[in-house]
Amino acid sequence: MDRRKFINLSGLGITSFSIPNFIQSTNPSNLIQPIVASTWDAGMRANVAAWEVLKNGGQALDAVEQGVMVTENEINCCVGLDANPDRDGFVTLDASIMDHQFNCGSVAFLERIKHPISVARKVMEKSPHVFLVGAGAQAFALANGFKLESGTLSEQANKNYKAWLKTSNYQPVINVEKNQSVTYNDPAFNAPKKLTDGEWNHDTIGMIAMDQFGNLSGSCTTSGAGFKMRGRVGDSPIIGAGLYVDNEVGAVVATGQGEDVIRVAGASAVVEWMRQGKSPELACKLVVEKINRIKKEKAKDIQVCFVAINKKGIVGAYALQKGFNFSVYNKEGNTLKDAGYLI
Ligand code: ASP
Repeated sequence: MDRRKFINLSGLGITSFSIPNFIQSTNPSNLIQPIVASTWDAGMRANVAAWEVLKNGGQALDAVEQGVMVTENEINCCVGLDANPDRDGFVTLDASIMDHQFNCGSVAFLERIKHPISVARKVMEKSPHVFLVGAGAQAFALANGFKLESGTLSEQANKNYKAWLKTSNYQPVINVEKNQSVTYNDPAFNAPKKLTDGEWNHDTIGMIAMDQFGNLSGSCTTSGAGFKMRGRVGDSPIIGAGLYVDNEVGAVVATGQGEDVIRVAGASAVVEWMRQGKSPELACKLVVEKINRIKKEKAKDIQVCFVAINKKGIVGAYALQKGFNFSVYNKEGNTLKDAGYLI
């Protein structure tokens, strides 16, 4: 699809990207065009790191780990150690990763470790388990060479926490209105950037990728809902909820209100719709509609979003409410796109 056609389609509200990824192969003569997609506009910067891996013939698994590490390094509200704390004032992190062979690893309620996504990968590769939490996850990280960070809140998180303590009212933000469809070919995205106050409110980063061999992988990392109860874990580290990869069908990540993604096994449900032949965007929409039916009038108080890719390398996304955008990088460049929405 050329850029002009893409722009025309995007004007019609069709939020899918396609490149000819029809062949899965390890034969160098059959290599295909890689693609990576991620949640929100923070994904634009994360995609750059992932694309660096993919364009050099690297594996999707490495791409999705290195991609989201960019966001874990940034100062933002909802990913990494500088994010908003729980209601007791501690930052607790959740992350998951999954490859093209149903290998997966997760950590949750992890404190004072900078790159939870890499700990999740270590759980996948170096432990007999798929999911470690809390003190056990931290001990595993330390035993595997990760450094214990200070645990001090970032300046911005401290400011946010103090402001929140005035009411102590737990009310997750739906999302931030900050949505323009733009194409960046900006080298500035090569470097992790310190966000300004106006860019503060970004959510979980989830990333899905297909490499030149046609293999899929996904990753998801978050500090979860700001000012959550201590011990709360959302959908992001739960395989099948916040992330799922089935290399025969596709890969899916979620962001938004984790509790409502968990109750429908969100990412897995989207994969199953794709297995039945639905496009990635429609598959996401069908699960969003289900959440809307379950939540009834309360649906208007939450946001839930999915991004999916199928085996043809088509990416689609859908959200419950207006305001969700997602970032896609393929050989045509890195593009930020508004997702379709239900209400
Ligand atoms: N899904 C995340 C959680 O519930 C938060 C988010 O994506 O905003 O922990």
